[in-house]
Amino acid sequence: MAEKIAIIGAGIAGVTAARTLTDAGHKITVFEKSGGTGGRLSTRRTDFGNFDHGAQYITARGAPFRAMMTGLSNAGAVALWEPDGKDSDHEWHVGTPGMSGLVKPLLRGFELKKRTRIAAIARKDGEIVCTDEDGNADHFDRVIVAIPSPQAHTLLSPVDPVFGVLNTIVYMPCWTSMFAFAEPVETLPDLYRGAHTDSISWLARNRSKPERTGIETLCAQAGAQWSKDNLEMDKAEALATMKDALEIMADQALNPIYAQAHRWRYALVDKPFGSAYLASHDQRLFAIGDGMLGGRVEAAFESARQLCDHLRHEIS
Ligand SMILES: Cc1cc2nc3c(=O)[nH]c(=O)nc-3n(C[C@H](O)[C@H](O)[C@H](O)COP(=O)(O)OP(=O)(O)OC[C@H]3O[C@@H](n4cnc5c(N)ncnc54)[C@H](O)[C@@H]3O)c2cc1C
Repeated sequence: MAEKIAIIGAGIAGVTAARTLTDAGHKITVFEKSGGTGGRLSTRRTDFGNFDHGAQYITARGAPFRAMMTGLSNAGAVALWEPDGKDSDHEWHVGTPGMSGLVKPLLRGFELKKRTRIAAIARKDGEIVCTDEDGNADHFDRVIVAIPSPQAHTLLSPVDPVFGVLNTIVYMPCWTSMFAFAEPVETLPDLYRGAHTDSISWLARNRSKPERTGIETLCAQAGAQWSKDNLEMDKAEALATMKDALEIMADQALNPIYAQAHRWRYALVDKPFGSAYLASHDQRLFAIGDGMLGGRVEAAFESARQLCDHLRHEIS
């Protein structure tokens, strides 16, 4: 029987669930608080070029996600990235023309409400009510919450104590800096990977990725431990510290035409839940996302996929 299902969050987990459940004949509404889709598969667009300032690349280790990558590659939304200095035997997939492009072919056949932050979830008369921050309420048969676990905990634990366990899932933050240069900085590598304690533990030149054209843009990411130790640092100070580290790496003074820092409070999962999804006893409320199985795009996808498999049997 077709059901009316809400999905909160248009990251890879939410969009995968939306696509699968739409294909199964359900009426899906996705609520997304930002103006874009893809969540941490994100691309920042600026007048000085675009930046993949969230997830850097994707590996596909299991057959279901490999099939998904093949489909997205055929749709022109994914390509392989083979930078100088690639330090793994796994294929590295990236969204095209930016990371957020990866989810675009999946966004069809369901209602997508952008710039709509769900502020509360409640049970009422056998249904689930989602209320956004402007007070607009809508009723659903089931609700799937596909957002970072600490935020899911805030939404779900007041409705059902089973979701209290979400606060045992641990995320590490990540300070990220974006730089654009009028000329290529040839003394920097396409790719650098350092230690968790470093103010730059990852660097990628966007032009080394497929379908990235235009001026030189770089994303630098601080190590997880450094980001945690400096979580409340002023944005300008984080940017200046990371720029200093970049200059040491480049062995020259740098004059970016654009520089901006972004703090991901919930970047990478350090301690996942250990099962693909968490369900209320009445099977009407669900939590999915990378917090369930681990801090990788494939893990978030797998969480959604396994929940949809379960719902196929649950809803008959
Ligand atoms: C800096 C960084 C680097 C990373 N590098 C890699 C990498 O190289 N490889 C890799 O595999 N993974 C990487 N990851 C992790 C990967 O991005 C995530 O595991 C994955 O994208 C999580 O997907 P998700 O759907 O679970 O959550 P998200 O992508 O976080 O999606 C959740 C969505 O929900 C929305 N939302 C939140 N609250 C609400 C609300 N109340 N109402 C409505 N909408 C809401 C958010 O805006 C967001 O769009 C990285 C992450 C970061 C931040």
